[in-house]
Amino acid sequence: MPVCLNCNISADEKPLLAIAFKDQTLHICPQCLPVLIHKPANLAGKLEGAEHFGPPAEHHH
Ligand SMILES: [Zn+2]
Repeated sequence: MPVCLNCNISADEKPLLAIAFKDQTLHICPQCLPVLIHKPANLAGKLEGAEHFGPPAEHHH
């Protein structure tokens, strides 16, 4: 049973969105999706490297 990577709610309770990341498929619920978009650093520890995703405008060299 897939669970939200952030809050661990299961697909039994809410629809989860599947996201591809590296070679895995992870799931996130609609309530946590804004965290992934706007504050990915909050997912550090739950999503490998999330603290380095940075804001969309930031360019990596
Ligand atoms: Zn969630």
